[in-house]
Amino acid sequence: MPEINTLAEAERVMTFCNACRYCEGFCAVFPAMELRRTFAEADLNYLANLCHNCRDCYYACQYAPPHEFALNIPKTFTELRLETYQKLCWPRSMAGVYRSNGLVVSWITIISVLIVSLLTLLFSGPAKVFSTHLGEKAFYTLIPYAAIVPLALILVGLMITGSLIMAYNFWHVTGGKLAQIANLQANRTALMDALRLKYLTGGGYGCNYPGEQFSMARRWLHHFVFYGLMLCFVSTAVAAIYEHFFHHSAPYPFLSWPVILGTTGGVALLIGTSGLFYLKLRMDTIPSSSHVMGMDVSFLALLFLTSLTGLLLMMFRETSAMGTLLMVHLGFVVAFFITMPYGKFIHAIYRYASLLKNAIEQKI
Ligand code: SF4
Ligand code: SF4
Repeated sequence: MPEINTLAEAERVMTFCNACRYCEGFCAVFPAMELRRTFAEADLNYLANLCHNCRDCYYACQYAPPHEFALNIPKTFTELRLETYQKLCWPRSMAGVYRSNGLVVSWITIISVLIVSLLTLLFSGPAKVFSTHLGEKAFYTLIPYAAIVPLALILVGLMITGSLIMAYNFWHVTGGKLAQIANLQANRTALMDALRLKYLTGGGYGCNYPGEQFSMARRWLHHFVFYGLMLCFVSTAVAAIYEHFFHHSAPYPFLSWPVILGTTGGVALLIGTSGLFYLKLRMDTIPSSSHVMGMDVSFLALLFLTSLTGLLLMMFRETSAMGTLLMVHLGFVVAFFITMPYGKFIHAIYRYASLLKNAIEQKI
């Protein structure tokens, strides 16, 4: 019964910490812990998702391994977060995906690329796919706009629905009231904390990551990933506005807003994902859990490959490689949206909900 063991371990660790309180300046977990005398499952799920895994408390702790008390908050909370993802998953049948995430994401990606490629070859024919197409609507000569739009709406709709239902599940099981979600002041605080990644600064010097030294590298690389992704979403939204309101179709000139925003976002994603992967290779494995390695790596790899193929498509769109790059890139994009709520991305949803709950109970 690993679930009971993880909860029991989290309760044991928090009970120790609540007596000690040495780490209270590192993050929001300790002030939230100090508001409690006992730790029920709802409290522990909330605290685990409020933890940003900076590891400062692990290296500061006199009771960390090899001490016989063996307190290891980052590892315990990482495992509890994984259990939260499984327990609150919608639909329930997808819960197992979080544990074998690396394998599932790899297969979904391969299948998505194959299906998109086969359909494109079937409907457009190899001669058209492997030749050069120039000017506006060049992409749509291979994959019709009328096929891309419904596919995008379905994928985005499923991703948003799944994420919202799981966010509601989290809010509900951690004791949140529905009306509290609309607390503007708390949302403002939580949003600022999330946008600045406040709790990856630890006590002000950064995370103890990848090793014992303090470093801001993880925080900055997370910023590259987050804002890179945002720029890519904005680029897609601007392209949709060009298409619908100005009847100006892709591919757009190099000095147009969709290309400038998309390229900047794509490069930021390459830097962020490869940097985080490099840190992961060098990290101290004792304060981590092997159960989430596949999920972390597959998310970084899928984001990296989606950005890379997008940038290559932009660079080689006026050559005969455009058709191949378009099929592969679209396959990666489809896989990314399908797997979004069932992989590492979900941590952003639960962490925001935890920050909101924290802002409400701390009245900040
Ligand atoms: S992690 Fe260790 S040092 Fe920090 S509050 Fe807990 S018991 Fe104290
Ligand atoms: S790992 Fe960092 S964020 Fe998590 S509880 Fe420890 S100090 Fe707080």
